[in-house]
Amino acid sequence: MRSLVLIGHGSHLNGESAGAVYRYAELIRERGLFDEVVEGYWKEEPSLRQVLKTTASTDVTVIPMFISEGYFTETVIPREMGLGHQGPVPPEGVARVLGGKTVRYTLPYGVHSSMADVILERAREALPDLGDEGTPPTALVVLGHGTTRNENSNRVVYENAERLRHTGLFAEVEALFLDEEPKVGLWPERVHAPRVVVVPFFASEGWHTLETIPEDMGLTGAVTEFPENPHGPQTVYYARPVGTHARIAEVILQLAEEARGTGGRGGDEDRLHAQAWSAFMTMARRGMRVGEVMITPQLGMFEVRHALDEGIPGGDLTTTVTPEGLRDQTRRDEGGHHRPVHTLRNMPRGWRAVLSEADLPRAMHALYPAIVEEGYAHQQHALRATPWATTARRQTGIYAKVQKATPQQVENVAEDVCSGCLRTRLWASEQLAHTFFDGVPGAIPCAEACTYLVAEVREEVSGKRGSGSGHSH
Ligand code: SF4
Repeated sequence: MRSLVLIGHGSHLNGESAGAVYRYAELIRERGLFDEVVEGYWKEEPSLRQVLKTTASTDVTVIPMFISEGYFTETVIPREMGLGHQGPVPPEGVARVLGGKTVRYTLPYGVHSSMADVILERAREALPDLGDEGTPPTALVVLGHGTTRNENSNRVVYENAERLRHTGLFAEVEALFLDEEPKVGLWPERVHAPRVVVVPFFASEGWHTLETIPEDMGLTGAVTEFPENPHGPQTVYYARPVGTHARIAEVILQLAEEARGTGGRGGDEDRLHAQAWSAFMTMARRGMRVGEVMITPQLGMFEVRHALDEGIPGGDLTTTVTPEGLRDQTRRDEGGHHRPVHTLRNMPRGWRAVLSEADLPRAMHALYPAIVEEGYAHQQHALRATPWATTARRQTGIYAKVQKATPQQVENVAEDVCSGCLRTRLWASEQLAHTFFDGVPGAIPCAEACTYLVAEVREEVSGKRGSGSGHSH
């Protein structure tokens, strides 16, 4: 049995941030090479702290869904997942045994050598006659973000430029950057060929690919003519970012295979995980409430809906039949705000999901990530709480300043944020005698302050937090 975990950054504010990871998880799930494909996030749920608990097997391959090495792949993810590793990840990855699971942590997908093929495919999409006989010389610009914070982050752009130089398809290949030298605005001096294909080495379509790059290069669309450039007239063909190409799913599978995630017999079923889900399914088969939802068995299927929608005819609710549909239905609150913390009491109403027994666990995972595993562990006295001081001490970068928060400041923020949350703060020594496993729907443990709370404490310490801001999401 094997589990694949894809790690994304996620966002407390932007509901679309996790989209790319969702899509790749679905593509890989369809291949059936792993028994499960689970997503985890820095700023959403399941969090990096929870995600390993949500995996069903003892053989786990973890792939950071990042375009380059850097602060998140080398510092934040290994630290939050408890991998006992900091700094550059070796090419063979990092393997650890954690809580009885063999966990293999790989390099981010963006540094895999086959990314050169993805760049080439993007270039071909932008300029279909690329490499055809009789066509004018063409230059390739591989465009990276670049940063002064981590010297590894630009290396992958240079390496790919070098690989593509050897294909012989291009008269010249340049690596340019948004945030470091050589900067993208230099392209008219650096690039001589009359045709120029620009491929953004970015994870997703966004502010940089849609605004910053076109602005810095003077582009007006997918094809832009520059009749008066220093080296003569040039035409720029602007490709889509590499990170959204469907081929990334292949790159991820290759990475997983190289980490030996698809070789051998894999691991065993995780015992505590299996027990938790078996207990949960037994309750679900009888009908239950958990958090803000109710689960009703119906002719061998399960209907899930908001408990406040009880009694509303099914035809008056938007019906969805897949865990992904349910996830998308409940991703925003009624005011249209993204819900990074699923246990905040702001689940939208007006939907119902009709799901098979096989799909119910994944649907629950989408509705309330990790609560089955953590709720059951708490009931079994096996859930360890992490006090605020430990969480604060771990923080680095812009969040390091939460270490300066006074207990009163933390409490003020928690009163505001956590009072709107179903979870009970074990990390602040609150007691939870029962859980939803004992029939108390809203009794869900919070073993550790979530990143949303950490971010709000940071705002408080910075004096930027207006009262009541925690209720908005
Ligand atoms: Fe909920 Fe507060 Fe725990 Fe975050 S820290 S999950 S808001 S109880």
